[in-house]
Amino acid sequence: MSATPARRILAVVTLLALLVLSACTAGPALHVRRIATDQPAPAASPAAPSTSPSPTTKPAPGSLDWYVSQVPTFPEAPPPQPVSLPATGAAQFWHRLPTDQKVAFITIDDGGLARPPEVADFIWRAHIPVTMFLNSPAAEEHDVYFRQIMVAGGVVENHTITHTSLAGWSYDRQRHEICGAADKLEALFGKRPTLFRPPFGEHDATTLRAAHDCGAKAVFHWTETVHEGKVRYQTPEKVIQPGDVLLMHFRPALMDDLLAALKAIHRAGLTPALLEDYVR
Ligand SMILES: [Zn+2]
Repeated sequence: MSATPARRILAVVTLLALLVLSACTAGPALHVRRIATDQPAPAASPAAPSTSPSPTTKPAPGSLDWYVSQVPTFPEAPPPQPVSLPATGAAQFWHRLPTDQKVAFITIDDGGLARPPEVADFIWRAHIPVTMFLNSPAAEEHDVYFRQIMVAGGVVENHTITHTSLAGWSYDRQRHEICGAADKLEALFGKRPTLFRPPFGEHDATTLRAAHDCGAKAVFHWTETVHEGKVRYQTPEKVIQPGDVLLMHFRPALMDDLLAALKAIHRAGLTPALLEDYVR
């Protein structure tokens, strides 16, 4: 459920540099491949909270400490078995990743509407693996925010420039939306996106060709949406299945959405994992 070792090392090195720069005295704890609730925050947080809560030091509901305290303890994530990708001229399209491994995936879209300030700390402290499908103008305008989530282990992927439905457009127009965003995100964050999510999930065969030609290995829809702390199932099972992809957005209730997603994944007996560990 964590990032790949190389990415994690890069994140920790970057974090150490940030911590030195901010003269913070609390160093980062070693990341383990398990959701835990006793790690210090990555950013300059005020006085580190007690790591051994007692009845008298219960965190205030709605505080960052409270969110962290509500995260369930997950089974250890299995070593990822990446799915095989067919060698065609089109990116693979999935609602649900085809895997039997007991994992599910959290994805957060857009980026322009709202960016709750404690999300990066929450993701860091609770070790939440997230994939961010960003519109490139929002990524550019708020790059510091998204970089903080990257330091916490998140990965940035492609969600077009203008967030308009691509279905039915010519190849050149679709390619412009997808490659243009990929170019910008690569320039901003140093990694070219390898996954693509079409706005509104709307796509056609041309989208999959253009996405492939812009560097995407796979195009993802979703199986559940999460909004204002509620998970809405779009599959008949009404429970998270292995390989499910949960969609939420950078909206004001993102902290609640992350927590709701984690609880739903936990209820299903699964562990959150990083999509990029499964699509390589
Ligand atoms: Zn979107």
